[in-house]
Amino acid sequence: MRVSRLMLVTLRDVPAEAELTSHRLLLRAGYMRRLASGVYAYLPLLWRVLNRISAVIREEMEALGALETLLPQLQPAEIWQRSGRWSAYTDGEGIMFHLRDRQDRCFGLGPTHEEVVTTLAAELLRSYRQLPVSIYQIQTKFRDEIRPRFGLMRSREFIMKDAYSFHADSTDLAEMYDRMDGAYRRIFRRCGLDVLGVEADSGAIGGAASREFMVTAEAGEDLILTSADGRYAANQERAVSLAAAAVPLPAPASGSGEAPELMATPGQSSIDDLCAAHGLHPSQIVKVLLLVARLSDAAPQPVLVAIRGDQQLNMAKLSNVLSERLPAAAGSVLDVSPIDAAGWSAQGLGAMAWGFLGPDLPDDVLGGARTWQPRFERLLDATAADLPSFICGANLEDRHRSGVSWERLPGMGTAVDLRSALPGDRCCHDPAMLLQASRGIEVGHIFQLGRKYSDALAARFSSETGAEESLWMGCYGIGVSRLAQAAVEQHHDDQGICWPLPIAPYEAIVVIANAADETQLALAEAMYARLREAGIDALLDDRRERAGVKFKDADLIGIPWRVVVGRGAAQDRVELVERRTRESRELDSSEAIALLVDRVRLGRCPAGDP
Ligand code: ATP
Ligand code: MG
Repeated sequence: MRVSRLMLVTLRDVPAEAELTSHRLLLRAGYMRRLASGVYAYLPLLWRVLNRISAVIREEMEALGALETLLPQLQPAEIWQRSGRWSAYTDGEGIMFHLRDRQDRCFGLGPTHEEVVTTLAAELLRSYRQLPVSIYQIQTKFRDEIRPRFGLMRSREFIMKDAYSFHADSTDLAEMYDRMDGAYRRIFRRCGLDVLGVEADSGAIGGAASREFMVTAEAGEDLILTSADGRYAANQERAVSLAAAAVPLPAPASGSGEAPELMATPGQSSIDDLCAAHGLHPSQIVKVLLLVARLSDAAPQPVLVAIRGDQQLNMAKLSNVLSERLPAAAGSVLDVSPIDAAGWSAQGLGAMAWGFLGPDLPDDVLGGARTWQPRFERLLDATAADLPSFICGANLEDRHRSGVSWERLPGMGTAVDLRSALPGDRCCHDPAMLLQASRGIEVGHIFQLGRKYSDALAARFSSETGAEESLWMGCYGIGVSRLAQAAVEQHHDDQGICWPLPIAPYEAIVVIANAADETQLALAEAMYARLREAGIDALLDDRRERAGVKFKDADLIGIPWRVVVGRGAAQDRVELVERRTRESRELDSSEAIALLVDRVRLGRCPAGDP
């Protein structure tokens, strides 16, 4: 391809809207253009990158026996209503674009395809003899993200590879999950990415086990916690750890069995105030947090969480626990947010001793709420449950209680894990190890869905014993367009992009230093033709620009190898430059071709590839 025909427009200035290096570089190097918030045109150079990534994915999916398919993006509301996800995806902060057709029927634009694929499975898969099967597609997904940002990292229209597998039992599903894990690791390595597999929260997709693949990068949106021995890695949304031991409450306040003492705590409405005034440690206090969960099929549910004073509430864990605890008739949890004094009075509710609340705050305080349900869902975090004796609010202004035990505050139900693991916490598998923090960009996510969707959408098969059973399902996503940008985030320098060769838009670029010079022009044309004959994907920068401009552009767009045809052309000499290392050598044109062909072949299968 000739650069003069590429519609290439590179930018010298840094686009103001881009905060992330990779986003800036893709815009500056002319790979993409923004059409609307979170909506990008993938220009020809980027499309080549996306196709290269897709080719690697296809090879690895086919090697697993998965079949490529293409499913509808327009998805009827009914199947989402049957799976119970329609309101969660369309109400409130729901991310599904949806619309009505001319017959007033509701549709969603596919953010994901579990419903579609399960509907098909229900029709097509009847017997255990047809199992297991896996299909995949590479397609545009639509998500009306609350905060589209960072270019292709979080866009509203993006390319995803999604695969789905169906099995007769959970063992077979787990086996496929492991094979997918292997395929994912190969895909990312082949694309030149350094990726870490981490335990993940399954979120709105649901299911038992899930693992995310994170491109480690300072700019990543996700916080990852890992142990130094490499045996534990998890997204913070999901991570578990051992909380620091609580500092025992000193006698006499800790005398179990004794009635709690009322403490005067004037104006001490925060843990810090309380600790400062009474020489306490935050782990000696149980704090009470009030939140409200919006539900798809029921009135908002007030939630009371009791957690140790030195711990932080993990919203992902909270939302999962609520989904399990609330009655099925309430539908799904749309969102959970803290209750503040304004939200409280908006419900027409009376005075509250904010900052002095205890776990036994009576449900009566909710009496007469305008829209909320009149009772709290009470949740007790395990760190608080483990305290034999503690301090907590007395539900009275300026008063706390000391020497409280859970026997005196019944009705909290079984303890659950609601705390956020933090860097520096001790690891569960080895308390001598401490958790370390790093940041990551999620490029892939694999799930063992189990039977959630097949139960809901009646996707059943007859088993070997003749019994009708629900299919076991897995689903496996890769953000193809996000991956392309993540590769730039990991591979760039101060001059521009340094594409890993297997996903570079072209493998080599021939630059004519002076396109008006007949000798240079002729040699460059010959080099370009010979490279292509040798099976190298080559670009020819034939533009009538100054050499400096062309060199800068070549660095910016990041083609792995550059052949410069300049003054040495008369002696058949050219310069060969490797983009990543900036190593340059002067060679005869044939030597240059031979070396280039050799290096490109090596680079096409990155080291370590089995
Ligand atoms: P995230 O946690 O980043 O919002 P997700 O968990 O919602 O992502 P999945 O539903 O698992 O994502 O989608 C599979 C893959 O698609 C993700 O691993 C990610 O790489 C990619 N992806 C998800 N949302 C976006 C988006 N808005 N823009 C670009 N890629 C995305
Ligand atoms: Mg995710």
